[in-house]
Amino acid sequence: MKTMTCKQLGGPCDLELRGEKADEVIQAQDRHLKEAVANGDATHESALKDMQGRWKKPISGLGWYRATKKAFKELPED
Ligand SMILES: [Zn+2]
Repeated sequence: MKTMTCKQLGGPCDLELRGEKADEVIQAQDRHLKEAVANGDATHESALKDMQGRWKKPISGLGWYRATKKAFKELPED
């Protein structure tokens, strides 16, 4: 398992997200952003917009996805 924070994934807080794969932490971050905004947390709104924009614009979103995967790969195992 590895840990990335909301901040490392483009968000505003230090919540830790854990997973075996980069895809898992990216999905956990996606859920976390949606939940935070649904609960009225305005600080996560722009990060959620960025995340949703990435799926709509696969070309520019892919750069972020690759960078995140690389950052995840370089992290030490927990
Ligand atoms: Zn957060």
